[in-house]
Amino acid sequence: MVVSGLHASGLCAGGLVCGFTVPEVKDLFCRINQNSFTVADPEIQPLGVGMYLLASAINHSCAPSGVSSFSLFRFSLPSIIVRTISPLLPSAEVTTSYMDVVGPRESRVSYLGEAYNFECSCPACGVPEAPSRTSLYVKLSEARSRSVEMIDEGRFEEALNTLRQTPEMWEELTPEYFPVKGLELFKVAKLEASFGDMGRAAELRRKGEEVFEVCYGRGSVNFEKIMKAAVG
Ligand SMILES: [Zn+2]
Repeated sequence: MVVSGLHASGLCAGGLVCGFTVPEVKDLFCRINQNSFTVADPEIQPLGVGMYLLASAINHSCAPSGVSSFSLFRFSLPSIIVRTISPLLPSAEVTTSYMDVVGPRESRVSYLGEAYNFECSCPACGVPEAPSRTSLYVKLSEARSRSVEMIDEGRFEEALNTLRQTPEMWEELTPEYFPVKGLELFKVAKLEASFGDMGRAAELRRKGEEVFEVCYGRGSVNFEKIMKAAVG
């Protein structure tokens, strides 16, 4: 759309857009689209898009060995930070996930094919998926979307009842250390604390803290921010 907009605007003559041919601009656009990162804050709220040449060489896996985050300081461009989330041998490849890896294999493969033009053959996609995983994902998705509505409407006890079993589902469906899982554990911990189960709340908060200790690094600015948000 951008390309045809530029061309149709008459900004350039002779089929050229600022010195590039339209196919060259399309090629450039696709390269940017496929290699850019969504820059997000520690709570994974998107803030914009960034290009990081070295990090863009990292391949995708639905069972990633690393996660990326961003250092955000006022008056400076965000840097990307990639941390491993599992022990790696010196020659092992660091991978990250280009998408939410919680979903079933079929939807992951379909998304990656459409968005990135490759068929995922990572260790998680290379083996048949148990039907129970898909049904667990459906249950988790339904619980998450129902709870968002309930929380928006102030129905916190119903939200807790809906989310109470989800920490175990996250354990089943995601890598051990994964930021989205950490956030969800914190959310359930807050609800448990609100309704008096301080023991369960502390247990979930501790698990969430472990997730972010690995993903962000204890003592980092992002770790401090996310821990502040967890108790806020
Ligand atoms: Zn995969």
